[in-house]
Amino acid sequence: MDFNLSEEHIMIRDAARDFAQTELLPGVIERDNKQEFPDELVKKMGELGFMGIMVDPKYGGSGMDAISYVLIMEELSKIDASASVMVSVNNSLVCYGLEAYGSEEQKQKYLTKLATGEFLGAFCLSEPEAGSDATSQKTTAIDKGDHYLINGTKNWITNGGRADVYLVIAQTDKDKGSHGINAFIVEKGTEGFHIGPKEDKLGIRGSDTHTLQFNDVKVPKKNRIGANGSGFRFAMKTLSGGRIGIASQALGIASGAYELALKYSKERKAFGTEICNHQAIAFKLADMYTEIEAARHLVMKAAWDKDQGNNYDKSSAVAKLYASKVAMEHTVEAVQIHGGNGFVKEYHVERLMRDAKITQIYEGTSEIQKIVISRSLIRE
Ligand SMILES: Cc1cc2nc3c(=O)[nH]c(=O)nc-3n(C[C@H](O)[C@H](O)[C@H](O)COP(=O)(O)OP(=O)(O)OC[C@H]3O[C@@H](n4cnc5c(N)ncnc54)[C@H](O)[C@@H]3O)c2cc1C
Repeated sequence: MDFNLSEEHIMIRDAARDFAQTELLPGVIERDNKQEFPDELVKKMGELGFMGIMVDPKYGGSGMDAISYVLIMEELSKIDASASVMVSVNNSLVCYGLEAYGSEEQKQKYLTKLATGEFLGAFCLSEPEAGSDATSQKTTAIDKGDHYLINGTKNWITNGGRADVYLVIAQTDKDKGSHGINAFIVEKGTEGFHIGPKEDKLGIRGSDTHTLQFNDVKVPKKNRIGANGSGFRFAMKTLSGGRIGIASQALGIASGAYELALKYSKERKAFGTEICNHQAIAFKLADMYTEIEAARHLVMKAAWDKDQGNNYDKSSAVAKLYASKVAMEHTVEAVQIHGGNGFVKEYHVERLMRDAKITQIYEGTSEIQKIVISRSLIRE
């Protein structure tokens, strides 16, 4: 067992840290206020290889491992979790989904552009009546011979208004339940595909979240991903990897808040001394450091499982459950350490606190992670 990062991993982490400091930090408060994220920054992340981190270079990707993915996600999330969720969705849900389950034709046509950042991807599973209970898909994809006809509504879709390519999960054969579900590639601009208004959110406000409407959308048969009826398994396996991304996002939010709190506590004076010299504050820092370090080990373990070819369904759920809890609890503490200054935007910690909450909700709520973990324990 080796806890050291390789030289290459350190270089990758430092490149992401440098990008986050120089490109993401300026303007992060304004983007949060205005609820927008500029296309130029997405393009720059593409140029750095952050949009297709684990994709094979033959499809335009960076060919890095899952450990590198976690390191990049942590650094981006310390500064801007809206940027990192775009990266996470594009990498773990869209690129991975296509690389692992798509046809060669689909990879050549879509993956090569998604991996370089030329295209942005979205993953469309959730619906107004199918969130945690994702098997209750109401969106239908009826087989019409040479094409499928998609009808229904997807909500909460990250990159919803900005994406070029949408992976859409829909029910083809209701009688077969989850075995009658398929996944499809839908291109932006397809007739009958409408993008609804943008959500006004508590956190990750720079990310682009929309409801999508499908009215008799014709999708060629060659755009179905994998065998007929494999869409639910596709979605669940893809989300397992997605949870490594969201766990590392949570880790970054927590460590970003901790770093700010530590620095502030060494500068701010009260009762004649820096506040870090008050044991109540020092103990908060000790708890933050300890639990963030524990979260980091769990996130790395899940990434390592993926890199080794081990099953990572349980380890990714464990990592997401714990890292998101740590992010939520310790961003609140970071605000507390900042006192009144923690309550204003200039000091960044209030944004990190708002951003932390989503990590306990998307890609499976914390309650759903406990279901995944406990089922796995009982089966073992
Ligand atoms: C900002 C944002 C971005 C998102 N991005 C995407 C995206 O890109 N693509 C996509 O497909 N989806 C996306 N989602 C949707 C997200 O994955 C769902 O919101 C999430 O899975 C929860 O579903 P729900 O909102 O319908 O809550 P519900 O399923 O209605 O859950 C409500 C509450 O009940 C609990 N609950 C439900 N069932 C159980 C159970 N069996 N046992 C115990 N507790 C239970 C839940 O944990 C939760 O606390 C996004 C959501 C948000 C807010």
